[in-house]
Amino acid sequence: ATYNPATGAKICDVEEAGGTMESVDTGKPFLHSFFIDLEGSIKTLRYFAGWADKIQGKTMPVDDNFVCFTKHEPIGVCGAIIPWNFPLLMFVWKIAPALCCGNTVLVKPAEQTPLTALHMGALIKEAGFPPGVVNILPGFGHTAGAAIASHMGVNKVAFTGSTEVGKLIQEAAGRSNLKRVTLELGGKNPCIVFADADLRKAVEEVQQGAFFNQGQACTAASRVFVDEAVYEEFVRRSVENAKKLVAGDPMDPRTSHGPQIDQQHFDKIMRLIESGKREGAKLECGGFALQDKGLFIQPAVFSGVQDHMRIAKEEIFGPVQCILKFKTLEEVIQRANDTEYGLAAAVFTKNMDRALRLSNALQSGTVWVNCYNALHAQTPFGGFKMSGFGRELSEYALSEYTEIKAVTIKLTEDLGESGKRAPE
Ligand code: ADP
Ligand code: MG
Repeated sequence: ATYNPATGAKICDVEEAGGTMESVDTGKPFLHSFFIDLEGSIKTLRYFAGWADKIQGKTMPVDDNFVCFTKHEPIGVCGAIIPWNFPLLMFVWKIAPALCCGNTVLVKPAEQTPLTALHMGALIKEAGFPPGVVNILPGFGHTAGAAIASHMGVNKVAFTGSTEVGKLIQEAAGRSNLKRVTLELGGKNPCIVFADADLRKAVEEVQQGAFFNQGQACTAASRVFVDEAVYEEFVRRSVENAKKLVAGDPMDPRTSHGPQIDQQHFDKIMRLIESGKREGAKLECGGFALQDKGLFIQPAVFSGVQDHMRIAKEEIFGPVQCILKFKTLEEVIQRANDTEYGLAAAVFTKNMDRALRLSNALQSGTVWVNCYNALHAQTPFGGFKMSGFGRELSEYALSEYTEIKAVTIKLTEDLGESGKRAPE
C-alpha cells in the first residue's frame, strides 16, 4: 500500500493502479503520476462533464421580419494525436472537451506510451460508453498519426507534440479535407526574476519549472533571466537546490527525478548539454549520465548563458536549467520575446504594477506571476506564435469542438403596426 504523504491516508487501489501504470508507462516518479497526472485528469473530466448540458447558442435580434439563432453542433469525428510526456493527462485534455460537445474521438497515443490510453479504453467500455464513441489507435506517427491527419472521414485533429510534426499535420489537413486543426507545440519559456522577488520561493518555483517531469514539458522554464543584483545569489541557491533531487526507482516514494523517455531523447539532451559547455556556458552542477541506473541525467544548472547559445534557443526537453543575466526592464522584455515560440512565461516580483506591465508585454499564451506550471481546468492553455494555436481546457476549449450554425427564419405573416415592437 502507498500512503499519501500530505494526509497520511492510504491511497485507494484504483487510484494507486492508475498512478503506478503511468509511472511504468513513462518512468516518472509515482508521486508525480499520482498527484499531477492522475489528479489533473480527474479534475479535467469533472470540469468538462459539467459543460455537457450547457453547450448552447444565442438568439440574434435582426430586423422584425426575421428570427435568428445559433446552434453549437458537434464537429463529428475528432482525431487526437498525443505525446509521451503526459500520456494520461493529454488523453483526457483531448477527449473531455470533445465528448462534452457531442463528438466522437479517435485517439492515437505516442508509440512510447500506449499503456494508460489502452487502460482508459477498458475503463470507458466498463463505464458503458456506446461502441465507437471513443476509439484508440496505438501506432507510429508516420503511419497511424499521418493517416488520421490526412483522412477524409476525420473532421478535426487536435495535436500536441513537436513544432516540426505540427506543421506536417496542418499540411496534411490542408491537402485532404481542410479538417479543423488545433496545435499545442513547443516552447522556450522565459522566466524573469527581479531583485525584489521572494528569492527562496523564486528559486524553488523556477527550478521545479525547469526539472519537473525530467524537463520533458512544453512549459519547461528553459530561459531564466535573473536581475544582475541577485544573479550570483540566485545561481548559488539554484545549485544547492538542484543537488537535493533524488534520482532513482520511479516507484520509490522518495524518488524526485526519473529517467528520460528513451535512448534517442537521452542522446539529444546529452548533445545539447555538450553544446552548452562548448559554447562557453558554465555548468554549475549535474549534466552527466548516471550510467549504472539507465537513462538518468543528473539535473544540470548552467550559469553565464548567452542568448545566442543553442541551449538558450532550442527546446531541450530535458533537466537543464539555463540562467541568464539582465540589467533593465526594456532589455529583458525584448530578449524574452526574441524567440519563435510563445507558450508560457513567468515573472517573479513583489511589484504588481511591474508584473502587470510584463504580462501585457510578454508574447505568450500564459503568463504566471510568482508561480510556475499553475494549470487549472478552468484556465485556457495554448500558444502564441510557433507554439501553436487553439486553446485547451476552460470554456475556450469548447469553441474548438463545435461548429456554429446560424438558423435564419423569415416571418411571412405581417401583423401591421400591432406586431411592431413597443416604442422605447
Ligand atoms: P517527439 O519527437 O518529441 O516524440 P512528436 O511530435 O514526434 O514528438 O510526437 C508527438 C506525437 O505525434 C506522437 O503521437 C507521434 O507518434 C506523432 N507523430 C509523429 N510524426 C507524425 C506524423 N508525421 N504525422 C502524424 N503524427 C505524427
Ligand atoms: Mg518526433
